[in-house]
Order: sequence, then structure tokens, then C-alpha cells
Amino acid sequence: MKENLKHQLAQTIRAYNAKGWSPATSTNYSFRETAESKDIVISRSGVDKAEFTSEDFMEVDFDGKPLSNYYHMKPSAETGIHCVLYELFPEATVVLHSHSVYPVLLSMTLPSVIFEGFEIQKGFDGVQTHESKVNIPIFENSQDMDDFKNWLREHVDQLKHHCFIIKGHGTYAWGKNLFEAKRHLETLDYLCELTWKRRK
Ligand SMILES: [Zn+2]
Repeated sequence: MKENLKHQLAQTIRAYNAKGWSPATSTNYSFRETAESKDIVISRSGVDKAEFTSEDFMEVDFDGKPLSNYYHMKPSAETGIHCVLYELFPEATVVLHSHSVYPVLLSMTLPSVIFEGFEIQKGFDGVQTHESKVNIPIFENSQDMDDFKNWLREHVDQLKHHCFIIKGHGTYAWGKNLFEAKRHLETLDYLCELTWKRRK
């Protein structure tokens, strides 16, 4: 099962790279085999995402420390964000991160982004109608991972739509499985593109 999940996520990583969402080896992606597992399978840093394969993952614990077979590998600096999201959302088994252009553009001009009136808002789990208001937070970028993890813990009430934006940086989205995590990330990206393009 783990090998199959690695294969599927690697395929997603290459597809997102083809959309221009992970330039210059950036971004990171992870999964857990089950919602009970404390072992996180995460993309290694420094790998060209155009050529990413199921061999390019490593495993870490909830503190972001490499598991025994992977002790010689360096996890991405952003591994801590994946760890804290699994801690805060025990049902999540997949976390995706993107550096796509439109959320980053919006993040430089707004404190948060509110979507209203778009059919695709229903792509966020729990949103029943395009008439509802969906508020996605934009957090300040931080180079201090412990600070940022604490920030997320303190602002967990703002994370009800399974995603957030980091200012000048990119997006994170998660889900109960890869299908749902992809839907959340792609919904957010599409709504950000719409919002950016209709600005006057
Ligand atoms: Zn990033």
C-alpha cells in the first residue's frame, strides 16, 4: 500500500510541476499510510520535481526527525509544517504545498482572501453552497519553524477550509486522502486565479 501511495503522490508532484507550481526544486508533499500512523512519508529536498519518482521520498517522525533508514538524508526546512498539520488534523493523511503564482500575487495585497459566489467553493469539504463566504487566512512567512508551528496551533480556528496561504510564499492544503487534498489545493488555486484576474 505504501509503495502504491508513493507512486500516486509522485505522479501528482510531476503533474503540479508541469503546471509551474514547484519551480527550482521548491515545494514539498507528504502522506501517512493511515490516520493513526506517526510515520510521515515526505518528499526529499533538492529534487527536481519534473523528475520526482517514488524513490525520492524519505520518512520522518512527528518531530520531523528522519526515521532510521533515512538518517543520512536531509528533510526539507518546511517539514515541520507537515508535522504540525497532522498533529492538528488527526484525520488528515496527505499534505500538499504549492508555490503557484496567483495565491502568491494575492497574498502581497490582502490580509486574507474571501471567496463568495463561485460554484467551485464547494470543492472545500463542508461548503454546501456557492452563496456562502469562504475565508482563507494569509499568514506571514517565517524562517523560524518553531515560531510558525506555534502560530498555526494558535490560529487553528482559522483553518476550517483545509488550506491556508503564506504571504509571498505559497499554499498548503490537506485532506483525508490524496483525492481530497488535491481537490482542496486545486480549488484554492483556481479561486485565487479568478480573484486576481477580476480585480480592477
Ligand atoms: Zn515553500
